[in-house]
Amino acid sequence: MKLRLASAFLGVLLGGSALADPAAGHIDWNYDGDHGPKHWAELTPDFGECARGKAQSPIDISHATPRADLPDLDVHYHTAPLRILNNGHTVQVNAPDDDTLSIGAHRYHLAQFHFHTPSEEHLDGKTYAMELHMVHRDDEGHLAVLGVLIRHGRRNAALDHVLSHLPEDHDGEHEAVDDVDPASLLPKDLSYFYYEGSLTTPPCAEHVAWYVLEHPIEASKQQIASFKKLYAHNARPVQPLNARRVYAHRAHAPAHP
Ligand SMILES: [Zn+2]
Repeated sequence: MKLRLASAFLGVLLGGSALADPAAGHIDWNYDGDHGPKHWAELTPDFGECARGKAQSPIDISHATPRADLPDLDVHYHTAPLRILNNGHTVQVNAPDDDTLSIGAHRYHLAQFHFHTPSEEHLDGKTYAMELHMVHRDDEGHLAVLGVLIRHGRRNAALDHVLSHLPEDHDGEHEAVDDVDPASLLPKDLSYFYYEGSLTTPPCAEHVAWYVLEHPIEASKQQIASFKKLYAHNARPVQPLNARRVYAHRAHAPAHP
């Protein structure tokens, strides 16, 4: 199971490269029509979990149970040059190995972050303009995704480092001129909603720990429009909660001043 998850994860990292999963690698999936989310599971048996899964993401987050005993998110990201790539489904930034996220005794490495529009997670039935996913993995292949909602508002200087270097072609990594600390993309208050979910893209593998931040960040209309020029709509619809519960944890201290 862990092995499958690791290989599925690489598939996401590499934008469906044959290296991860030979069968899934060539499947052309997207966000509408015959190859859209309703049909992902029909495209190949490898995507079966997209239809069969009972713990899928994204979800509408409402009725969260408060859990003061959950750990705070302990983010240790660093300033480094961005390696940006357009993988055909989103714009993704690959992270250096030393960016980590600790949650209690559990330590994850930031692998990459990427964007969706509109937001995939809903809060109390509400969607946001965009969503940032910071994808983490521990040494055993377990995944944890930090979801950051992005609403219309002021121009976001940190986001500009990515949004002003959006690669239109799919020919691999582009190194941006700017050095960026991914932590500058996070809100100060790291209060979060936690639930057990899945990848939101095929193969929709489950056992992904989701930490969706309660506080959105802002981006200007122009910034959001610049992403939408490449991807006008790349969000999976919300999935049934089924037997799961969502927990809410209020952060004890700001992550960065
Ligand atoms: Zn995502």
